[in-house]
Amino acid sequence: MKKFLLVEDSQIVVKIIKHLIKDEPGMHCDVAMSRQEAESILAKNGTEQYLAAVVDLSLPDAPDGEVVDITLKAKLPTIVLTGRMEDTLRDRMFEKPIVDYIVKENRFSYEYAIKLLKRLNGNRDITVLVVDDSKISRHFTKTLLTSQLLNVLEAEDGKDALEIIQTNRDIKLLITDYNMPVMNGIELTKNIRKDPARNDLVIIGVSTHGNKGLSAKFIKNGANDFLTKPFSHEEFTCRIIHNIESIENYNKIRQMAYSDYLTNLPNRRYFYEHCDSILESSKEHGTPVCLTLIDIDHFKKINDLHGHDIGDHVLIVFAEILSQSFSRFLFARTGGEEFCVLLQGLNLNKAATLLENFREVVEDRIVMLETCNLSITISAGLVESNGNQIDELMREADQLLYQAKSNGRNQICWDAGA
Ligand code: GH3
Ligand code: MG
Ligand code: MG
Repeated sequence: MKKFLLVEDSQIVVKIIKHLIKDEPGMHCDVAMSRQEAESILAKNGTEQYLAAVVDLSLPDAPDGEVVDITLKAKLPTIVLTGRMEDTLRDRMFEKPIVDYIVKENRFSYEYAIKLLKRLNGNRDITVLVVDDSKISRHFTKTLLTSQLLNVLEAEDGKDALEIIQTNRDIKLLITDYNMPVMNGIELTKNIRKDPARNDLVIIGVSTHGNKGLSAKFIKNGANDFLTKPFSHEEFTCRIIHNIESIENYNKIRQMAYSDYLTNLPNRRYFYEHCDSILESSKEHGTPVCLTLIDIDHFKKINDLHGHDIGDHVLIVFAEILSQSFSRFLFARTGGEEFCVLLQGLNLNKAATLLENFREVVEDRIVMLETCNLSITISAGLVESNGNQIDELMREADQLLYQAKSNGRNQICWDAGA
């Protein structure tokens, strides 16, 4: 994370902020105690190395917020952190593209400033699409978004937006006007929501003041939020932050629901939700697909001999080898020491060769421990699909795995399938 520039003449405030960022990994700041010092730091270091500026409005040589113009001119996202609460000053500041205006009231004000800085840092990886037929409106919205370090793309109407979304999967947030030629904002929202894969795209509709019912219509058709024009800079910022946080929370929950806690590999739920479409597409295109069930041999002994923590470590190492070896396939940890791979595009012979290779890699890999070194072996059952459903394939693979175990372990058993 880049450092930020703190322009502040109060030693106490500097001390508080430095204390708060002490616990934030990678967060550092340079301090300027006056406008002149801020100017010379920026001239000496350049602006590139700063993420943003946090500025006080009352400095000895800049008593009325003049320093804001210096940091904005240097193209630094600027957070005002001031003891002054006058409405006129606040309004005057919000006429400029500042990030936010925070009043130093208590500890939470400083914590909020730190949270905003972290938000700005995260925003650098987020792309927003602004859809509006008015160039002036688009430009206004874009200025507000870029002041928060978001990446902005523009579209002139709904149709144009749909094309951009299709080619650019990085877009996380879409802000759309209602009235546009070719395709309006609600039609656009409906069209996006037809594709379940784009459910994670956050849509904010913009409705004009006086157009009653439009905001509800936006939400009913799939938008996540709405703004009524003309909106204030401050309200806009709050809504954007709130919606970005909701995307991040959604992604975190999704990640937790679909991955295994210990190894971070996709879990059983993820595997089952994704395998049907792969099996269907193989059937449709007449391409081969195989399923393998892999189980670590005598894993219980590792726990019994070395303890559960070492057992966990071995599972993590094994998961790494598995994800490297099968990176282009769908795989998962489906049970304690049991793993699954759907080998799309491979017939039984090719899948068996790949799996045999994997078996050897696992056997040769030495897991270094403090007290000793150990190695593991695996057994696997492998089947090729003949248009079968996943449950059927699992059953067959499980029987073959059982056979591999009875035949002495450290081997793969396969069959042509039903
Ligand atoms: P086999 O060769 O027949 O597969 O023998 P096994 O010992 O590997 O199989 P068994 O099913 O008897 O035992 C599996 C063991 O895996 C028992 C269980 O405690 C252990 N296990 C399952 N999940 C975890 C885990 O997350 N961490 C650790 N350390 N052990 C686990
Ligand atoms: Mg086992
Ligand atoms: Mg087992």
